Amino acid sequence: MSKNILVAVAWPYANSPIHVGNITGSYLPADIFTRYHRLKGNRVLMVSGSDAHGTPVTVQADAEQSTPLEVYRRFHADFLDLFQKLGLTYDLFTSTHTENHFKVAQSLFLALKQNGYLYTDSSLQWYSPAQRRFLPDRYVEGTCYVCGYSNARGDQCDNCGSLLDANQLIDPRSKIDGSTPELRETKHYYLDLGKLQSEIVEFLRRRESYWRSNVLRQSLGQILANGLHGRAITRDLDWGIPVPIEGWDGKCLYVWFEAVIGYLSATIEWAQITAQPDVWRDWWNDPATQAYYFIGKDNIPFHAVIWPAQLIGAGEWFNLIFEERHGCRLTLPYDVPANEFMNLEGKKISGSRNWAVWGADFLSRYDPDTLRYYLTTNMPESKDTDWDWQDFLNRNNNQLVATWGNLANRVLSFAYKHWQGRVPVPGELRPEDQQILSSIEAGFEKVGAHIETVRLRAAMFEALALATEVNKYLDAAAPWFEIKRDKNAAATTIYSALRAIDSLKVLLSPFLPFTCERLHAYLGYTQPLFGEQFVETQQDSLGEHGVLRYRAETGAGRWVASQLAAGQTLQQPAPLFRKLEDGIVPEERARLRGEGISG
Ligand SMILES: [Zn+2]
Repeated sequence: MSKNILVAVAWPYANSPIHVGNITGSYLPADIFTRYHRLKGNRVLMVSGSDAHGTPVTVQADAEQSTPLEVYRRFHADFLDLFQKLGLTYDLFTSTHTENHFKVAQSLFLALKQNGYLYTDSSLQWYSPAQRRFLPDRYVEGTCYVCGYSNARGDQCDNCGSLLDANQLIDPRSKIDGSTPELRETKHYYLDLGKLQSEIVEFLRRRESYWRSNVLRQSLGQILANGLHGRAITRDLDWGIPVPIEGWDGKCLYVWFEAVIGYLSATIEWAQITAQPDVWRDWWNDPATQAYYFIGKDNIPFHAVIWPAQLIGAGEWFNLIFEERHGCRLTLPYDVPANEFMNLEGKKISGSRNWAVWGADFLSRYDPDTLRYYLTTNMPESKDTDWDWQDFLNRNNNQLVATWGNLANRVLSFAYKHWQGRVPVPGELRPEDQQILSSIEAGFEKVGAHIETVRLRAAMFEALALATEVNKYLDAAAPWFEIKRDKNAAATTIYSALRAIDSLKVLLSPFLPFTCERLHAYLGYTQPLFGEQFVETQQDSLGEHGVLRYRAETGAGRWVASQLAAGQTLQQPAPLFRKLEDGIVPEERARLRGEGISG
């Protein structure tokens, strides 16, 4: 039976390009999971967008003497381009800077207020007398009171990693002009998490048996140890979503409070764009829906505690867009399979220090499936992993090319050459032919089970192990010699191998969609495996914003074993992957250190 599945993917901040750690942390696993469920015939919706607001964007704008709007638009356009090239099949990748998102976020705020889960309180905040404005955390730097590092940011110390209370910074200074700020009183709205604690704990307990342990530790474990306390959800900032209350000018909804609401607003926007305005409820009001949140470990508390609190507290949500009360509760997360971090050559990836492999730069030299392959085999699902250029080369050449690419290419080329460009007609299948086909068929269950429980590395290795089995089958049958004494026997071998490869193509397609699509065409299919990505422009009262979408209907692939027809016309095959030269390792390492090579 077809299930409704929401795939909610972390929103990248529109202030920095995307590196391989971001991709393997959340975007790629979400896409693999989504492609699989589409092949299974489930009703999947994959949504996300650019996080346009907050101090990361305003700080960047100040640094380049630009406006937050310009900064956000530039990075957003880059994301749309990169995600297409990577084959990330978002049903909708939008942004938080849309009229729709403003309304949905504000209405959720008002629902929480009406239901008694918000209160106001005063606190002390750094204020710049020179600029006559409050300074958000990221605008204040000073000496870390934990480790003594002299360039700590107001919200976090980059040296010791501690989350900081900005008010306790030693020798604070404004990031804008270096002047010394003073503490002044300011008023904010707080989300009353204490009041929601028992419901949050119950929500988490019901998921305890299957959530990743790091996610449970940072949610349930933290609550049981420390309890939940009110948290400010507004900021003194003018770039963002205004607090929808009179007399609160100059204050915005805190970016973390509103960005997570994007999962809901993006679904609503998608429903409107596709001219079925009520269909968002199939994912948000149906208790049978499974909502998966693909994020990195730094975002766990926001997705496993605070976002569920917002959803529970919103109750029977009042929606400003439709100006009606919906009378139903919003779907809570089913799973939050957060990944750990990927390091680079033994060191933490750092965008600001340019210690990173950037997605767009990588794709200017290598193919997207090469990246998807390495990032999947090295995905930080249970512990931090390391991007190592030598390891990248070895895995590409010794696994991807040797085990899978060469298998597909040599069997297809052989069939194309000796059977006039057609799938050979087999004789009766022998026990060894039946055995390889049935072990591949069993792979659909095994690989699928791993993907459904978000063990994507295991799923990929399971599929590759089957490719190894097919290689062994071929070595034993040796059709290259068999054809000289018995062409019919060779036909049976090559037919069985092609059918196995046709099945492996489906098993590997969520991971390696570009090359599996090409292989699908070489095998003579005329309808593509997958649908099409496209970018279009949406218009509202805040201006234009580009969105990335996906047309699923044009894809004909299904998660079932091959029924390849004997006699089907093949296309002239070409190798699926490139073997990489040893020289790329020192070259890429030099590039990382910023030596000599431009780009
Ligand atoms: Zn520190």
